[in-house]
Amino acid sequence: MIRNSFGTLFLMLVLMIPSCHQKPEKRIMGVKIYGHEGSMAYLFNEWNELGINTVFSGEDLISNKQFRQGARDHGISTFVIFPVFFNPLELDASPHLAAITSQGEVAIDEWVEFVCPSREEYRKLMVKKAQDLVRNFHPDGISIDFIRHFVYWEKVYPDRDPATLPLTCFDSVCLGHFQNETGIKLPESLDGIPQQAKWILDKHSEEWTSWMCGQITTMVDDIANAVKEIDPEILINVHLVPWAGSDFEGAIKSVAGQDIAALSEYADYLSPMTYAHMVKREPPWIHSMVKDVYSQGGAKVIPSIQVDKAYLEQELSAEEFEQSLIEALKPPSNGVVFWSWERVAADSEKKEIIRKYCKQ
Ligand SMILES: [Zn+2]
Repeated sequence: MIRNSFGTLFLMLVLMIPSCHQKPEKRIMGVKIYGHEGSMAYLFNEWNELGINTVFSGEDLISNKQFRQGARDHGISTFVIFPVFFNPLELDASPHLAAITSQGEVAIDEWVEFVCPSREEYRKLMVKKAQDLVRNFHPDGISIDFIRHFVYWEKVYPDRDPATLPLTCFDSVCLGHFQNETGIKLPESLDGIPQQAKWILDKHSEEWTSWMCGQITTMVDDIANAVKEIDPEILINVHLVPWAGSDFEGAIKSVAGQDIAALSEYADYLSPMTYAHMVKREPPWIHSMVKDVYSQGGAKVIPSIQVDKAYLEQELSAEEFEQSLIEALKPPSNGVVFWSWERVAADSEKKEIIRKYCKQ
């Protein structure tokens, strides 16, 4: 009897200990912000007022001491947005780092240009940079952005022929790694990148897709491990191209290189950029994307939604925004991230809609 009581007490204690260390679950009500001039106190007061509990900001803001202090004082969690393979400054300085298409051309489309994901030195530099951000600024999380292959998905509409989507990266470094790591050898008779890419895609497309997804997954793994050395509690969010598993013949893997099941192993949150208006979808599509991502991985899903029009001339009305927010919050969603605060700040009607759904 005594032993049983002691055993029960011991079991209760064991069960209680981990729960003391767990962070309380909260639904993320987030904003992405890219810069701010003026009073920090005003900014945070306003977020408290609207029910915004998390900010996703770039390095500029997170490096501002007042900003960090304001977030702490107002109970706002901070995620630093960390772009990985989109790096115009680096590409200007070192054009030889550019990703190459299956046509053998530099992958560039308006502002969209990507670094080849095979460059060891660049990858190490990014890992170190992520560690430095965490060491210096102590964010609650890191929000890994542009963690994918080249594609201007913001202008890919539902009627797009999947065969016209760009495929990268076929430079000599990637082709070398692919051959070494898969054991697949390119015939020497092939002349130039277009022929080599065609041969790979004709004969070994599955191996290619799996390998190029691995370039992205291992980068997330490397960054997640490295930042956890600095802060074991840090949260990992990964930005996703808003394509369901079956969209465009599986382009989320074969074009973007994002294997959601694999990424889920390293991410606390997955954040599809469900900018419905931009990609010519209706608000219910946002909920369908959340379900699709959740079913593939099981990580918490926090859809990011757009506040105002982008790339298209057609207005994004307050009604459409409200419908998008309602869809974004439906389970299994774990919250929402508004892109961007600058657009919210300029629109009092949409601000009121946010207050209506986000203020607890
Ligand atoms: Zn490459």
